[in-house]
Amino acid sequence: MARKVLVLADIRHDKVRNVTFEALSAARKISEGGEVYGALLGKNVSGAADSLAQYGADKVFVVENEALGNYVPDAYAKALETVIKESNPDVVFLAHSAIGRDLAPKVAARLEAAQVSDIIDVQIEGGKLVFTRPIYAGKAFTKNVINEGVVFATIRPNNLPASEPGAGRSANVVNVSVDIPADSLRSFIKEVVKKTTGGVDLSEAKIIVSGGRGVKSADGFKPLQELADTLGAAVGASRGACDAGYCDYALQIGQTGKVVTPDLYIACGISGAIQHLAGMSNSKVIVAINKDPEAPIFKVADYGIVGDLFEVVPVLTEELKKV
Ligand code: FAD
Repeated sequence: MARKVLVLADIRHDKVRNVTFEALSAARKISEGGEVYGALLGKNVSGAADSLAQYGADKVFVVENEALGNYVPDAYAKALETVIKESNPDVVFLAHSAIGRDLAPKVAARLEAAQVSDIIDVQIEGGKLVFTRPIYAGKAFTKNVINEGVVFATIRPNNLPASEPGAGRSANVVNVSVDIPADSLRSFIKEVVKKTTGGVDLSEAKIIVSGGRGVKSADGFKPLQELADTLGAAVGASRGACDAGYCDYALQIGQTGKVVTPDLYIACGISGAIQHLAGMSNSKVIVAINKDPEAPIFKVADYGIVGDLFEVVPVLTEELKKV
């Protein structure tokens, strides 16, 4: 059955995030000969339309509006609803990001559509879409079938493969005008104070070097940062390290932190509590460095190094610099 699938681009710091391209590839797969659309909402975002086309969008709906300069739920909901009315999709994909998690259920509820959150796979079985999502902190998975109507799904980054971009493909742009009077918004952003956590975006990183209470101090993160810089990796942390004040909570990975699925996760001085595993156990390759051979992290690790991280990490960095 041919379907129309709309993908809302997830934009952070003026850049379209990879999860958008992963969503477009999934959209192409499930469209079964139907159409794939991209949506760009924001201020000065139309320049990204070609990149959506290169990953498979047949049309790109663009809403340029002053009111969309920062994420404001009412404004974005109105813009997305308008694009949905114009494009009439069967499926709407958003990233399982801070914005997608907020926006998808809001618009789905307004349109009386179904909503599936945090999907890591979508397949067609017996002509129906089957969405897979983790539950119980990644210990089990549910398969959700939506029988009828429009479906909204938020996609966990780094799980679905993005296809190769079609070079030189330019977008068929549809400009959509939306009236968003300032006094119609129940909230607005007064000021954005940006944190300088710098470097690679943790939830999209292909490699993460993560530190736990075993790093012992804020300075203890320095050798981890050096290893991360050598690998082009992001730095993450356990809640133990955050609670101890060694690093910012923005780095926390786990049940109450970020959920990550990099190709390589290097856990340094992290015991492997269940709440930490909930955020990283789906990583493709896990390396654990811990001086306690009984640490639970070794149960999920593909490679384990029993040793002092302050000895092991600098040696790793030096060796990797030679490669
Ligand atoms: P520890 O458990 O203290 O482990 C430190 C490890 O470092 C030990 O294994 C030790 O052997 C090793 N070590 C020490 N020195 C060295 C050295 N020099 N070289 C090598 N190894 C060394 N935790 C999270 O991480 N993320 C969450 O999102 C999260 N959410 C939670 C939610 C709830 C409701 C609760 C109750 C807890 C949550 N926790 C979370 C906390 C979790 O239970 C653990 O307390 C926390 O993960 C422990 O952090 P850690 O592994 O860094 O510290």
